[in-house]
Amino acid sequence: MMLREPYGISELGLGKIFPENLFVAKDIIEDLEKLRQSALQAGFSLKVESAFRSFEKQLSIWNRKAFAELPLLDKNGELIQKLPENEEEMMYCILFWSALPGCSRHHFGTDIDVSDASAVSENYEVQLTPQECNGIFAPFHEWLSECIASEKSFGFNRIFEPGRGKIQPEKWHLSHLPTARKIQDSFSIDTLKAIYEKTDIACKNAIIENLEKLLDEYVYPYFI
Ligand SMILES: [Zn+2]
Repeated sequence: MMLREPYGISELGLGKIFPENLFVAKDIIEDLEKLRQSALQAGFSLKVESAFRSFEKQLSIWNRKAFAELPLLDKNGELIQKLPENEEEMMYCILFWSALPGCSRHHFGTDIDVSDASAVSENYEVQLTPQECNGIFAPFHEWLSECIASEKSFGFNRIFEPGRGKIQPEKWHLSHLPTARKIQDSFSIDTLKAIYEKTDIACKNAIIENLEKLLDEYVYPYFI
């Protein structure tokens, strides 16, 4: 059974995966291991690079970016020299590379970022970039695309596809749709707004004022 928070899963609904030592929703573990086996048979070593991320963790990333404790990058991945002048500008600036706390699909526990460990050496640092997907991990992603197209991906699907919403395409991000949909169904803008009101979050006023629009751009287009 899944235990839900207003924006995702409660930590009680999580289980650990190995060898990564990361947490995902317990309900997806069996299918994830099947996908891993299937990858192995095709000559790939599916590695989960990131999985569940808590609201608090995302909040910490968000606030550190807003207070320049983490680098703020423009759409080309270059460091922004001139800091945004108002909350709204800052909010959209952070949103280019980071999800709004409470709106990350990594809160669901059903979504993972994957790579192919067999394609790189042990000390290679995975970046999760389009360049990698079209380069060193291209055969793995082609195999994944085929699995998804032929419905042999055990419920996993790509979410951040071109043309859906304002989030950059991310081939490496997979969602276990049958489980994610249960969480999507209980997602509530009113609850989220109430959470922001009592949370110490940077750009708070801009977020609350623009919440409907933000969800239309960054959240709902991906509720497939
Ligand atoms: Zn992701």
